[in-house]
Amino acid sequence: MSLSAHVIEGVERYKSLHNSIGSVYCDDLYPVDKGSSERRSYLKKIIERGEDQEGKKYLAKYKIATGFVREEKEVMAAKEWKGNLSDSKDWKRYNYLTCGKYGMLEENVSGDKRYLVYKCNQRRLCPSCRDSYHKEKARKAEDFAAAVMRSVGVECLSKFRLTFPDFIRDQIKTKAQRSAFKSLANEFLQGVYGCVANKSGVYNRGSVGVSIQCHIRSTQECWKDSFHLHASVIPVIVGLRSYLLPVVVPMRNCVILIPVYYNEVCPWDKVFNEDDFERMRLKWSKLVRRLSHKLGFERVDEIPDEVGVNYSYGYLPEAVQQGKGKGFDLAYDMRSPAYDLEKAAAAVNMVDKKIIMSFKHGDFGYFENWSFENYTYQVAILLGYKNLNSTYGWLRRGAFYATALGVEVEKEKDDFTPVPGLSIRTEYKREYKAEAVPGKKKIKIVEHLCVRSLKDANNPGPWIEIDLSQVHGEANWIESRKKRVYSVAKNKSPP
Ligand SMILES: [Zn+2]
Repeated sequence: MSLSAHVIEGVERYKSLHNSIGSVYCDDLYPVDKGSSERRSYLKKIIERGEDQEGKKYLAKYKIATGFVREEKEVMAAKEWKGNLSDSKDWKRYNYLTCGKYGMLEENVSGDKRYLVYKCNQRRLCPSCRDSYHKEKARKAEDFAAAVMRSVGVECLSKFRLTFPDFIRDQIKTKAQRSAFKSLANEFLQGVYGCVANKSGVYNRGSVGVSIQCHIRSTQECWKDSFHLHASVIPVIVGLRSYLLPVVVPMRNCVILIPVYYNEVCPWDKVFNEDDFERMRLKWSKLVRRLSHKLGFERVDEIPDEVGVNYSYGYLPEAVQQGKGKGFDLAYDMRSPAYDLEKAAAAVNMVDKKIIMSFKHGDFGYFENWSFENYTYQVAILLGYKNLNSTYGWLRRGAFYATALGVEVEKEKDDFTPVPGLSIRTEYKREYKAEAVPGKKKIKIVEHLCVRSLKDANNPGPWIEIDLSQVHGEANWIESRKKRVYSVAKNKSPP
């Protein structure tokens, strides 16, 4: 595939229009292929040229990931903690800078051992803690949805992607505005399932469980603001119903009616068709117009009659059969806001503190040269975003409705009780290797974790590679003391 002149010109004009953060390698646009071979060969070309012409040494980021993240965190720590620090702040700073580096090898009375990694749990500053926080949140959401769906007998988790016309999207800037559009999306989605709230926000005819995630930036060009919403809907309507129970009052020799309340659970098993989607786009346009007008946005009249509603679904039985977890892909929808930017850093020159960033625009990929400072500044902005995910409808009080839905919620048992005297201090080292994905053109960066004993601090033991899944707190957000396990209640049988 070769690039035609007008395509290059188009992308050039586009790039000069948007004036991104770094400088662009203009002559290195490449068509994006399904694998990543084109991208790799273009990156190699840029790196080689940098070395030949300027003597600058760039290394693939994964090769120096540990050192890169350390520098990144040094820069962020210098901004966060200035001057004389109190003991507690100094301790926080130390934990932040050594997050993931030290830990323990614990042992219980039966002689079982487990590795533990100390994490700083400062998710507003620490990219890796933020990442595991989001992963844990997504795991919880998937497990709960799967338990509800199996209990009630629903097979598809509905997923919607809601977008806005560019000129409206670019006016959504503040946290309050983002929240307003999140609520609007919930109103829209409840309506899709025939659930309407009254003026006091009560769903008289029940509600569906909705989880909405804000994405602030464009996925492909993560330096660029591009607000949109991802929503998942558990298509089960739960509502409080009442009926009147006749009760005989013997003393007065009469019958009175007492209202009895119960939760009615009703699976939604309709399949949407093209007409439904058209109605949805019309409705979403109306709602966006209403809120944009209320917020005093400009160009409300120009909002087209139909506004972007994309639909997909996660099919539970198939995913379980294929061993693909829940098949809902919520970990991707709910990923850390800094995830895409971190992934975009392709190669680093640690001497000059320069980074080659990799982006995509439509069918084309391109590279930019960023300074380390710009990069960390952007990461800090993205990690600063809070409350990007909200739940609505009955999902807002999911635990409350669990019994009605036939879902059992248990606290995860951590029956490993270490004997303090047997714990050995450990140090960890992470290495990243590019490994081919079998049967594909792709290369995957795989994390390898090594540990060594610090029992004798002056004479550490040899490095041993260990399986990431053996390490407590490595895969999960360990500060979460509310870790829950969801299953279908025993009196219910999964379909
Ligand atoms: Zn951390």
